[in-house]
Amino acid sequence: MVKINSNFSKLNASLKQVGAELNFRYHFNNNRSDIALTRSKFNSDGTLSKIKNLKIDYLAGLSFYQNNFVAIYFQNLKADKINTFHFSECNDLLINLEKNESNTTLILPDSEKADLKKKDTNKILSPCHLCLENTNWNNFEKAEDWSKRIIIEQFNILEFHKQMFSVERELVSNFISSDFLKMLPKNFPRILETAKSYKKWTCQKCKINVSGMKQLYHAVILDRTLKRYLPNDFLGLCTGCLKVKYHDMYITPEELDFINEFRPKSKK
Ligand SMILES: [Zn+2]
Ligand SMILES: [Zn+2]
Repeated sequence: MVKINSNFSKLNASLKQVGAELNFRYHFNNNRSDIALTRSKFNSDGTLSKIKNLKIDYLAGLSFYQNNFVAIYFQNLKADKINTFHFSECNDLLINLEKNESNTTLILPDSEKADLKKKDTNKILSPCHLCLENTNWNNFEKAEDWSKRIIIEQFNILEFHKQMFSVERELVSNFISSDFLKMLPKNFPRILETAKSYKKWTCQKCKINVSGMKQLYHAVILDRTLKRYLPNDFLGLCTGCLKVKYHDMYITPEELDFINEFRPKSKK
């Protein structure tokens, strides 16, 4: 397991050495295959139900199933058209998981079913208010009622996932441990989003702006012992720069193309 504190000066040194010339190496380790295996269990509509020994992990304020970020809802047999989905450790979710486990459905954020703009679905999925409050997404906790309504209406799980994806990538690439992620505060999604926006989704090493592909942005905690999460307690890096040092950091060919196209060229 990589300890960031002790390795960070090494990472900085190696980044300086390599300069802007990133030498990528594809290296899909076992964890990556596990992810693929878990995803293959899902139906083609991106849902999974009737799961035996269901275990949800709450990492960095988010709900994970076997290292995959998932939203969770319960089959609503009543006539009303709304199904509430959860994405963090809220009391409603915990109670439902206990009482109603056999009706649990997991849904991947890129599922078409989760696309709220598609009104042709029989049931409309709507985000859980407690989950929004826990994660403090868009400062939901302190928002006035009228603005809470807007946050709920505009909440898009896929967009949310892209902004939070660094957590999943760092987890499956063994850059960060699930034990550490478990200790982060419930409102970590808001903290992370704030740090990333503050840094304008721009890598502090190679200066690429990844706002067009937000899943490529990481905000790395500089000193984990501080338990302080102000924007300057993070170093903003793109996946490409992280991969220079941590070869196990997985990246897709599309993401690699994006980096190669938009990374500012080094001045010689
Ligand atoms: Zn919830
Ligand atoms: Zn970079």
